[in-house]
Amino acid sequence: MIFWLFSLPLVTQAQIRLDSNLVKAGLEAISSATLSDKQVADYSRQAMVQMDAQNPVAGPNDPYTVRLNRIVSRHHTISGIPLNYKVYKVKDVNAFATADGSVRVFQGLMDIMTDTELLAVMGHEIGHVANHDVRDAMKRSLQRSAIRDVASANSGVIGKISRSQLGDVADYLVGASFSRKQETEADDYSYSFLKRNGYNVLALATSFEKLAKLSGGQSGKVASMLSSHPDSKVRAQRVRDRARREGLTR
Ligand SMILES: [Zn+2]
Repeated sequence: MIFWLFSLPLVTQAQIRLDSNLVKAGLEAISSATLSDKQVADYSRQAMVQMDAQNPVAGPNDPYTVRLNRIVSRHHTISGIPLNYKVYKVKDVNAFATADGSVRVFQGLMDIMTDTELLAVMGHEIGHVANHDVRDAMKRSLQRSAIRDVASANSGVIGKISRSQLGDVADYLVGASFSRKQETEADDYSYSFLKRNGYNVLALATSFEKLAKLSGGQSGKVASMLSSHPDSKVRAQRVRDRARREGLTR
């Protein structure tokens, strides 16, 4: 037994020298198997603490916070996920939600959207959480990060998540991109959320149309948000078609 424990690191090092791809695949399997949903939520929470510390968060009496709190007052839990909301006072047109139920809305988005359109955008982002898109993407991001660190340190040990890894994850959270199928499913989630709660479902369509218009005139931050959300006009039309079928056009 002692011999086996002693020899294991030597075997691992030999593999790294001989076939790094094989070792990488093995590490991927290990981290994939050991990273629980709870760990992902814990990492998300840690990353959010860091994100909130690095961004101008609107205070409790700030008009943006007051407005957001009013808009979400009925929605502190969605699909069994307890949610916490904050406004970042930055000009970017963006919003995101994380696996621990944190929803962050940027001032730039609030400036151009109506209350129901904001709910539609948040409903879409929360849809990514409820559908586990965010959790799965976060797992992949953590694995990539862990594998890279292990490969560079050549230590053969996946240690605790480091501060720089959290930084990687935080960067990732804002620019997360999902598959087209995941986007469509998040749209459907938002549509159902709006419908179930008696909101005008067409707010989802008009929010896409506003983003499509913006992407024509601006570049940078807006474009990067839209790059993960392609075909805003097509998606808006899809919402309008469904609303017509369901007699929800107003
Ligand atoms: Zn999305």
